[in-house]
Amino acid sequence: MKIRIVGGGPAGLYFAALMKRDNPAHDIVIYERGPRDATWGFGVVFSDRALEFLRADDEAMYQRLMPLMQTWPNLTIVHNDTRVPIAGNGFAAIGRLELLSLLYAHTESLGVKIEFDSEVTTLDQPALAGADLVVAANGAFSWVRNENADKFGTETDLRRNRFIWFGTSKVFDSLSLTFRETEHGVFCAHHYRYSPRMSTFLVEVTDDTWQRAGFADMSEEETIRHCEQVFAKDLEGAPILSNKSCWRQFPAVSNRQWSVDNVVLMGDALRTAHFSIGSGTRLAMEDAIALWKALRDTGNLPEALALYQERRLPPMTKILDAASASIRWYERMDQLIHLAPLDFAYSYMTRTGRVDHSEVTRRDPRLAAAWEHSHPEIYGDSY
Ligand SMILES: Cc1cc2nc3c(=O)[nH]c(=O)nc-3n(C[C@H](O)[C@H](O)[C@H](O)COP(=O)(O)OP(=O)(O)OC[C@H]3O[C@@H](n4cnc5c(N)ncnc54)[C@H](O)[C@@H]3O)c2cc1C
Repeated sequence: MKIRIVGGGPAGLYFAALMKRDNPAHDIVIYERGPRDATWGFGVVFSDRALEFLRADDEAMYQRLMPLMQTWPNLTIVHNDTRVPIAGNGFAAIGRLELLSLLYAHTESLGVKIEFDSEVTTLDQPALAGADLVVAANGAFSWVRNENADKFGTETDLRRNRFIWFGTSKVFDSLSLTFRETEHGVFCAHHYRYSPRMSTFLVEVTDDTWQRAGFADMSEEETIRHCEQVFAKDLEGAPILSNKSCWRQFPAVSNRQWSVDNVVLMGDALRTAHFSIGSGTRLAMEDAIALWKALRDTGNLPEALALYQERRLPPMTKILDAASASIRWYERMDQLIHLAPLDFAYSYMTRTGRVDHSEVTRRDPRLAAAWEHSHPEIYGDSY
């Protein structure tokens, strides 16, 4: 099969590797517009169960990734100066560049060609000519999808909150969500270490806070200084580091039709999941597994593409529902911050509707008991 892939992110790379592993006769080329050694961003985080999806289909990849991951068993919510540790929420993180380097080496060792510095700009481009299958794995702003939005049934909902993806040399001991009230509104930092020397430090604010703080007129340097002041107690003197960092609004993307003719969407081009549930990379790799399996299990391309959507839609919908509830929670953080720290942390834990009180109790009995104790109106005052 002649397969051409637009975009060398986790989705495109992993799909190519799975296909080539199964059948070395496939002719697969990935076109990646960036150079081999450059990438945006710092680290990405998976929930502790998020890597389990790899094990069943690709134990070797799981074993290669695990030693590179930073892992920790707890989550910490910081409500101004109060820290609320929450047990039973394990996470694992890795630098995006490290993940991509591993995938480049793995994919190339199987015989897939990756053309770096190669931007594909139209479906008529000679690079794609004669392909049996064209995979659009070119990220959240995919032109393949946008230029055919009517055929794919694309919906894009640009959310109001603003976020900026920074790093820092301060190494945190757990995945932390720090909320600090300022004169302009609440600032939230999502921060976690992804290597022994570096952490991701993503700052999120509501649009009102962003406007009041005057970020629209600040330089990158001024933006960094402002965020360093807000989170001075958390950074303890460590600098915030930029990597082409700029303020963005999250585009929540979905598509009714995942393929048109021989062109199929995958990864962030197919849908985006808010970073607060930490699943974008996992979903991208799961898409790759799902398309590979659909091609393996059917006799022809149209059937395979239909099966890909049919099988993948239900589990993906569950995660997207959780992601969209999570987005809305962050959009209300200026009101929610008025809750007491324990209630705030509890509200965070239950924000997607997928974790109820019994699940909080299972994960962290002490937190659940403290919350029951502070709510005698619900649980009685016999504690
Ligand atoms: C701020 C932020 C934080 C995130 N945090 C996490 C996290 O903690 N955990 C997590 O799992 N996920 C996280 N994500 C999401 C994650 O980065 C993506 O979901 C994941 O990378 C999707 O993989 P992908 O292969 O579909 O797309 P991408 O990783 O975006 O890769 C697409 C590739 O296509 C290339 N490309 C684009 N256009 C062209 C073209 N015309 N020609 C050739 N190449 C092209 C790009 O250069 C890029 O390399 C985060 C995202 C953001 C924005």
